[in-house]
Amino acid sequence: MSRPETSEVPSEQSAELLRLTLPLMSKHKVPVTPRNYAVWFEYVRGDNPELKAELQSLIDAGTKFTAQLNERLFEKYASDCNTDLFLKIRNEMTDLMEDVASSLRDVDDDTRRFGGHLDSVIESMQRCSSLDDIRELLRSLIEETRSMQRSTQLLHEHLDAKSKEIALLQEELELERKRASTDPLTGLANRRAFTEALVRHAESGPAPDTLALLMIDIDHFKNVNDTHGHLIGDRVIRFLAEVLKQHTKGSDLAARYGGEEFVVLLPDTGLKGAAVVAEKIRTAMANARLVRSDNKQPLGHITVSIGVATCHPGEDPLELVNRADQALYQAKQGGRNRVFVDINTQSALHSA
Ligand code: GH3
Ligand code: MG
Ligand code: MG
Repeated sequence: MSRPETSEVPSEQSAELLRLTLPLMSKHKVPVTPRNYAVWFEYVRGDNPELKAELQSLIDAGTKFTAQLNERLFEKYASDCNTDLFLKIRNEMTDLMEDVASSLRDVDDDTRRFGGHLDSVIESMQRCSSLDDIRELLRSLIEETRSMQRSTQLLHEHLDAKSKEIALLQEELELERKRASTDPLTGLANRRAFTEALVRHAESGPAPDTLALLMIDIDHFKNVNDTHGHLIGDRVIRFLAEVLKQHTKGSDLAARYGGEEFVVLLPDTGLKGAAVVAEKIRTAMANARLVRSDNKQPLGHITVSIGVATCHPGEDPLELVNRADQALYQAKQGGRNRVFVDINTQSALHSA
């Protein structure tokens, strides 16, 4: 089968996740189908807090994982993965499972035969009257043992090959998951991945003024498209993405929120620190001298406006997005090419 490039996925990690996922599914009597597998794999990874919480409470309540429940979980948490890929994985997994089952059956037959042979050897032993009889018995015993050894060795090799194939399938799922959380134009996280990260951080109950959000929008971007065309517009979007990558590190998350709008989530960062990062991004854009690669025509100053807010304790994470968005609006109203800090964040800090 043709597989996508898998070099980005550390295979020990996939193998480890696989090692954890399959027994867990079997413990809870969940059939190993690609759809169920996608759900439980996500659960073991622990990257989706909502799924983790729901599955955990189902497990704690001793709920039976019926086909209907499994289907609902898949629809809710994993159905936006590529369907073709799932169909492919389902077929491959079915083949693999059948293959492994048939190998086990073969060895089971061999073992039974071997056991039967041992019984008859023991019986014959009692009746041996000469050294030659014993020698003959031993010869047949050695032959049978060798054949049994070959059979178990084949099984081991077979199971080994199969587990490697399963690990490859696992990597394919992992790649698909990555694709589902990446913006194809810029390679940054997409809105879905950003929302998941935001919820995860907010649920960890950050201390006041320790989770900041920048909301960034390119100024008068429509003019860039109108003057230079959409392709150049796309390049400008990619350029801003590069600037964001340069100004984020560690657990910071830069993401494309949609169109020409970006967000930067800054864990462990207060309002002041976040405003500094925002200002650096703003000046990096304002000072850039972008020119068209085809005719070297300058694109003029391309600037961004940025809204900054930090999370209030216990606040719904989407409120943080709202407040950063309001601050962005104020930055636009204030004349663009500027950073505006959310007033509610400021007053919350002052009253703290
Ligand atoms: P403002 O300063 O108020 O933000 O003005 P603006 O022109 O940037 O804002 P507006 O919302 O009017 O226009 C945004 C434009 O961004 C319109 C849309 O066609 C363009 N756009 C959105 N996504 C993409 C994209 O992926 N590539 C390109 N080239 N343009 C995009
Ligand atoms: Mg804009
Ligand atoms: Mg916009």
